[in-house]
Amino acid sequence: NLNFHPSGRHFLQIPGPSPVPDRILRAISYPTIDHRGPEFGALGRQVLAGIRKIFKTDQPVIIYPASGTGAWEAALSNTLSPGDNVLMFETGHFATLWKKMAESLGIKPEFLGQPGIEGWRRGVQADRIEARLRADPQHLIKAVCVVHNETSTGVTSNIAAVRKAIDAAGHPALLLVDTISGLASADYQHDAWGVDVTVSGSQKGLMLPPGLSFNAISAKAINASKSAKLPRSFWDWTEIIEMNKTGYWPYTPSTNLLYGLAEALDMIFEEGLENVFSRHQRLAEACRRAVRAWGLEIQCADPAVYSPVLTGVMMPDGIDADAVRRTIYERFDMSLGAGLGKMKGRMFRIGHLGDCNDLTLMATLAGCEMGLKLSGVPVKASGVSAAMDYLASHTVPLVVKAA
Ligand code: PLP
Repeated sequence: NLNFHPSGRHFLQIPGPSPVPDRILRAISYPTIDHRGPEFGALGRQVLAGIRKIFKTDQPVIIYPASGTGAWEAALSNTLSPGDNVLMFETGHFATLWKKMAESLGIKPEFLGQPGIEGWRRGVQADRIEARLRADPQHLIKAVCVVHNETSTGVTSNIAAVRKAIDAAGHPALLLVDTISGLASADYQHDAWGVDVTVSGSQKGLMLPPGLSFNAISAKAINASKSAKLPRSFWDWTEIIEMNKTGYWPYTPSTNLLYGLAEALDMIFEEGLENVFSRHQRLAEACRRAVRAWGLEIQCADPAVYSPVLTGVMMPDGIDADAVRRTIYERFDMSLGAGLGKMKGRMFRIGHLGDCNDLTLMATLAGCEMGLKLSGVPVKASGVSAAMDYLASHTVPLVVKAA
């Protein structure tokens, strides 16, 4: 649809899939090997050990050859039974989709949230989860499910606070968390936060193409899986955990994506995981400064939970955000995220995750600024200048890496 012949690279600035670095693309291009042979076992053991460090867990992490949606289903079907009550929190479009999935699997989700779009501008309210669990003395609620980084809005929820809320209520519900778009971009601590199942995917902070997804699990989740009655076969953890002990899978795994994962883990550990997080925080702050300079509103209304992964930009009344995105795509060959669900046409989303640096972000913001002006959006001041000033005066805070 471009009205010119594109040269240079396409700017894929949606909040995932994120651009795949050349190093990873090259790794993925190695010849496929026998997934039952000795070489494969070494690869399997390497990625299974490495991915645990990303989730900050000593417990098993399951890797599925599937998109994130598959890992959502795996989390529910391994731990729950038909008719089970679960508590979910409406943070945005992805929380809504996970709830729909729960319903289609025969689980009974209760959706906490706020009317209109208000709840889509803030994170999970842990105090409301605590109050609801306190009102369940019979422990009918079997799980609390929340989205850590709501990709539809650019709001990151405080998972440690949700854990605290469950403990304060003295409730035995499992804690299931989706960090599909948060992992390897925003700090995440599966073990320290007492999460029972963490769901994630390959195509965001891990800088891989879509096609791998994850369940990090706890001993309590494994225990729950022994009595969980939802039908499952492909998603069942039991045989995978057993075969993973030697680096293999019960079926044919995505060998080439696992090469890519090994390379991605090397890249992340070379930079240092904490450095990856601070790089994301810094780029996100520069992006927010640009949005404020334009005089536009950031979708996330609570600075305590700004996402380091993406920024949601709300359009003034009467402006169709999809038309602005279309102009930017057609004129500058850049993809931005659309407003989803309740936010359709009202916002666009700028991804600043994964293989992203100062100049990637500056080019992205320049494309946005030119596109806003071309679309007739009143722009107060240069966001590009505001972001440049911030980046130039704030060097990357390097955290010393552990040996
Ligand atoms: N959950 C979140 C927070 C997401 O961002 C996405 C995808 O963007 C999904 C779930 C669904 O994952 P997938 O599209 O890989 O199936």
